[in-house]
Formats: sequence, C-alpha cells, structure tokens
Amino acid sequence: MQNIMDGGRLDVRVAKTVILVASIVMIAIRAPHGKRSHAIPVVRSRKGKIEIALLAIAWLGFFLPLIWIVTPMFAFADYALRPVPLLVGAVCLMLGLWLFHLSHADLGANWSITLEVREKHKLVTQGVYRRIRHPMYTALLLYSAGQALVLPNYVAGPSSAVAMALLVTLRIGPEERMMIEEFGKDYRDYMAQTKRLAPGVW
Ligand code: SAH
Repeated sequence: MQNIMDGGRLDVRVAKTVILVASIVMIAIRAPHGKRSHAIPVVRSRKGKIEIALLAIAWLGFFLPLIWIVTPMFAFADYALRPVPLLVGAVCLMLGLWLFHLSHADLGANWSITLEVREKHKLVTQGVYRRIRHPMYTALLLYSAGQALVLPNYVAGPSSAVAMALLVTLRIGPEERMMIEEFGKDYRDYMAQTKRLAPGVW
C-alpha cells in the first residue's frame, strides 16, 4: 500500500492502469459491432460536416488519455490523484461500460457510429431502450465523467467529457428527426413514453 500511497496522494500508475483497462474494455465491447455494421448496407445517411467534426472530436477525446499514459506531453497539467475521486470515477467507468455493453446488445445490427439508417432497420424500444431513448449516450457520458475523475490531468482528464457533451448536445436533435422521418408515428409514440438520457428525469 505504501508503494502506491504517499500522504493521501496515490501513485499515478493506479490511474494509468484504470484508464488503460477501461479503454481496452470499451474497445472490446465496440469492436464486434463495428465489424458487423460494416457489412450491413446503409440506406440513409445524415453524416454531414457537423457529424464529421463531432466524430473527430470524439476520437480525440478518446485518444488524449492514451497519449497521457504513454508520453509526458501533458505533464504540465498533472495534479495529485486522491482516493475519493479515484473510487467515484472507477464506479462511473464501470457503470458506463456496463450500460455501453447493454445498449449495444439491445441495439444489435441497428447500431451505427454516425447518423445512419441501415437496411432492415428496426426501431428498438426494449431492454435499456424501454425508458430512455439514448442509453448509449448516457453510457458515454458516465464513462467520460469517470475518466475525468480518475485521470489527474487538466487536459487529458476532461477531454472525453467535453467531446461527449458536445456530441450529445449537437447530435440528439438531428438523430431524433432522422428517426421520426424513418419510423413516423412509431417513433413519436416512443418519444411520448420515454426520456432522452435519464429515466423519468430528462
Ligand atoms: N442514440 C442511441 C443510439 C446511438 S447509435 C443511444 O444513445 O443509445 C446511433 C444510431 O442508432 C443512429 O444512427 C440510429 O440509426 C440508431 N438508433 C438510435 N435509436 C434507435 C432505436 N431506438 N432503435 C433503432 N435504432 C436506433
């Protein structure tokens, strides 16, 4: 314990390990879905300039923590790691990854990394989609909040949270409009019965 604790400060290797493991789990959850979705033809795409920018920012938000792990590039913005943020953050990361897995499992072949309707697209309203319309975005927000708490660096720590906040804010409206165009009354009815990100709240 003494090796990793020094006067209430934790060794930064703890944060690096947690972030690395969480990133690997996230990639492992996503990889099979990414692979499968390439094989399903897209029948309608809304991948405009804003989407392209949001995706680029999301990738950056994901990679900056990995760069922080392996290079001293952001060392100027490091601060001391404390146990409470580490613990709360680790819980957020686990909850986020769990919900990320469940939403991928429920969305199945209907998932896309961007705003797209796929061949034989079905509206999913069950599982984690029963009470909220965007559980995957809730998962990504939880994950990035966890990362901001665990990673003791003012640049790499909040990078994902900033990227996800932008993505969620700018994407949800166009995504819901696309879903209404595709599924009409079914999606409107679904909207009437659900919230966007937090069950019963918002
Ligand atoms: N916003 C959802 C899905 C993210 S993936 C979430 O956060 O869980 C984005 C793609 O999923 C969109 O391009 C759309 O094609 C598809 N999608 C979104 N909601 C859906 C639903 N309820 N049923 C089926 N496909 C959906």
